[in-house]
Amino acid sequence: MPSDKARVSFRVSVPKGYQAVANGTLRSERTKAGRTTYEFGTRDPIPTHVAQLAVGHLTEIKGKGPHGLPLRSFVDSSKAKAAGPRVALVPEQLKWVEQAIGAPYPFETYGVLGVGGVTGYALESATLSMFNADYLAQPGTDGVGTMIHELIHQYFGNAVSVKTWDDMWLSEGHAAYYTGLYHDSKGQTKLDDFMRDAWQFDSEERPKYGPPGRVTDLNGVLFGTNPGGAVTLYALRQRLGLPTFQKIEKTFFERFRNQAASTQDYIDVVNEVSGQDLTAFVNSWIYGAKTPPFPG
Ligand SMILES: [Zn+2]
Repeated sequence: MPSDKARVSFRVSVPKGYQAVANGTLRSERTKAGRTTYEFGTRDPIPTHVAQLAVGHLTEIKGKGPHGLPLRSFVDSSKAKAAGPRVALVPEQLKWVEQAIGAPYPFETYGVLGVGGVTGYALESATLSMFNADYLAQPGTDGVGTMIHELIHQYFGNAVSVKTWDDMWLSEGHAAYYTGLYHDSKGQTKLDDFMRDAWQFDSEERPKYGPPGRVTDLNGVLFGTNPGGAVTLYALRQRLGLPTFQKIEKTFFERFRNQAASTQDYIDVVNEVSGQDLTAFVNSWIYGAKTPPFPG
């Protein structure tokens, strides 16, 4: 269950020439008789589906984030040099995300993991988002929205995990919403255009995947929750105005940090902060058989 969180630790022994990395912080490292034993552990509870262990020829790239946050990224050694410029974007991305959500990054460390063999997806492994090493090694900033997406998941999805898989839109919807906001802030795609695309996708695909809060298809856990969840949050923002929406987001995050939250928990925060009963409004977006009309 995604709600069953735990502080995780890994103890792994590797032969000479290999490195290991896992969630959280390196607690010890000992080399004996040609083998190195690493112990990693997390300070905070994480949902176990974002536990991560990687072993390979990895190069560590250290850095500093906001408020002295220690950063450590690990990239397949053959791609480490080329990945330097994207890894160097992380401190700025953390700063942007902290400001957008209005809360400090929730874990003891952050970094990106670039490995081979993962194609077409990335994963928000806790404290160490995983990408294809080739993606990190790309020049320029096209597609760096995926880095923002996985970073947002450290807040929504990891620090605030979901209670059941039906609540997954709280994780994916937030990741997609803030990625749209990021593109807008960088002068790339206007938020309204981003949301129109999300709305269009959700309108067309909802019959196939089910509504964001009750997906009926395994692929729907990702594809049915990202655009539908993002446009739900946008609908709330359009209805209540930015300051109230931001207060909802901050309250929800702070209240459920290190816990798991349900759709009802989010609705309760919406109603409390806005002083209105928006239960039916949110339900129509999250559980309706058809996507409601585009906000505004
Ligand atoms: Zn995601």
